[in-house]
Amino acid sequence: MVIPASEKGLLDVLALARKHHVPVTVIGNGTNLLVRDKGIRGLVIKLGNAIKNWQVNGTKITFSSSLSLAQAAHIALEAGLTGMEFAAGIPGSVGGAIYMNAGAYGGEMKNIVTAVTILDRQGQTRNIPAAEMRFGYRTSAVQGTENLILAATVQLQTGDQEKIAAQMADLAERRRSKQPLELPSAGSTFKRPAGNFAGTLIDKAGLKGFAVGDAQVSVKHAGFVVNTGHASCADVLQLISAVQERVFASAGIHLEPEVLIIGEE
Ligand SMILES: Cc1cc2nc3c(=O)[nH]c(=O)nc-3n(C[C@H](O)[C@H](O)[C@H](O)COP(=O)(O)OP(=O)(O)OC[C@H]3O[C@@H](n4cnc5c(N)ncnc54)[C@H](O)[C@@H]3O)c2cc1C
Repeated sequence: MVIPASEKGLLDVLALARKHHVPVTVIGNGTNLLVRDKGIRGLVIKLGNAIKNWQVNGTKITFSSSLSLAQAAHIALEAGLTGMEFAAGIPGSVGGAIYMNAGAYGGEMKNIVTAVTILDRQGQTRNIPAAEMRFGYRTSAVQGTENLILAATVQLQTGDQEKIAAQMADLAERRRSKQPLELPSAGSTFKRPAGNFAGTLIDKAGLKGFAVGDAQVSVKHAGFVVNTGHASCADVLQLISAVQERVFASAGIHLEPEVLIIGEE
């Protein structure tokens, strides 16, 4: 795994991988990932938190993709700009949030992003307007491509710093009280099915606390699978399948994973 400390370092390592035909997997903070037990072949480039650049331009801010969303939301707060409060408690990076069109509490990246800078695997940089990003529920145009997100520009509004800070504190408290933040997880395990909530369906199927090894349906919030000790990826995958089967049997609804499953089978 390489954690580049600069954009030049990133470009150099990508060029090396290209030259030696080494497969590349790019990750942000890894907060939405379930990595299979055999690991990832080739080179993993972890961008999360490595390159920290941003530029405030009036009510717009351009963030490098490896800033965390918490850092980005605090930069917006410092600049007195509102619109990013929803993102402050999502533990991912700006790049991961663009890739996933991350969202919470009524906000999502799609509503604030105006442009994304990407780097293709040939080393060419391109600016993509938001209209071409095909943002949908936890999807974007970057998925299924080899493009790397370098930066994103968001359009915010002038706001009151005290109100922004209060909103961020309120959302953080709502998260702490409802989500199992005290145990490792990859966030919501399943996507929200139309007109329903995965957590409610899992709870109604009597699966709160249901476990395979140390992988457990959180007793605090059934929408999360947590690791209570030394769960393997195989444990988590088995638990996910069992939950899917039982929810389908009880409610006739197929739950689709929101977590991304990567690595060697
Ligand atoms: C406790 C907890 C709470 C969470 N709450 C929420 C929530 O409220 N809302 C929500 O939407 N999500 C939530 N998540 C999930 C997760 O934080 C988001 O999906 C986040 O956007 C992932 O960012 P990341 O940097 O960790 O991406 P990673 O998990 O590292 O990667 C996710 C995908 O993005 C790709 N990727 C990452 N960075 C780049 C880049 N620079 N260029 C190209 N591709 C890239 C990776 O290849 C991978 O396919 C939560 C997770 C946890 C653990």
